[in-house]
Amino acid sequence: MRELVDEARAWLAWAQDSGLRILTPEARTGTPAAEAAAQQTVRPEVPVKLPLLESVRDEIGECTRCKLHKTRTNIVFGVGSPKARLMFVGEAPGEDEDLQGFPFVGKAGQLLTKMIEAMGLRRDDVYICNTVKCRPPNNRNPEPDELLACEPFLKGQLGAVKPEVIVTLGKFAAQALLREQTPITRLRGQWREYEGIPVMPTFHPAYLLRSPGEKGKVWEDLKQVMKKLGMPPPKGAAS
Ligand code: URA
Repeated sequence: MRELVDEARAWLAWAQDSGLRILTPEARTGTPAAEAAAQQTVRPEVPVKLPLLESVRDEIGECTRCKLHKTRTNIVFGVGSPKARLMFVGEAPGEDEDLQGFPFVGKAGQLLTKMIEAMGLRRDDVYICNTVKCRPPNNRNPEPDELLACEPFLKGQLGAVKPEVIVTLGKFAAQALLREQTPITRLRGQWREYEGIPVMPTFHPAYLLRSPGEKGKVWEDLKQVMKKLGMPPPKGAAS
C-alpha cells in the first residue's frame, strides 16, 4: 500500500511541476496498471545479464585511457536493472556523481528519478549511465578523445542490457550517440536509431531545472517511450 501511495505522490509531484492537467483528485487511481507497467519493464524471460555487465566494468578497471582519470574521484559506471527494457544515457558525471560513484544522484538526478516514477517505474526498473564514465573538470563537455576512449564501454553496456528503447538526456548525449549535430530542439521528440535500437532524444533534467516550462515537452517524449514499450498511459494525466 505504501508503495502505491509513494508512486501516486511521485507522479503528482512530476505532474504538478510540469504544469500537467490532472483529471482526477486522486490522480493515480489505476495503480494495478502501474504495477503491471513496472512488471513489463523487465523481461522475465531473459536471464539476468549481470555477469556481462560486470565484465564490462572489469574491463574498465582503474581506467587511465584518457585524461579524465587524473581529476576523477570515482568511475561512474551505471546503475539499474541489467535486464531493463529502457536505458537512459546522460552526458557525464557531475560533482555529486563523481563523489558518490553513481550516475544522476545530484539535483538533476532527483528530477530524473521523478520523471522515471511519473512513468510508473522505479529507478531499479531501468538502466542509467553516461556517455563518459569520469567527470570532466568543472563539468565541461567531454572532448572527442575522451568520448572515443569511453565509447566501447557504453557499447558494452548496451550490448549487455540490450534495452528495447534508449532515452538520451540532453544535446550532448544525443549528438554523441547518434553522431549528428542536429540541435537538441529539433532532435527531441523524434525517434532515431542506434544500432537498431529506437532512441528518443529529450532534454536534460539539468536544463529542466533551469527551464521548468519545458517539462511538458519531456513528458510528451516519455509518453512516446511508454507507448513504444507497450506500457499503459499513466492515469490521471491529460493525454
Ligand atoms: N548529468 C549527467 O549527464 N549525468 C550525470 O550522471 C549527472 C548529471
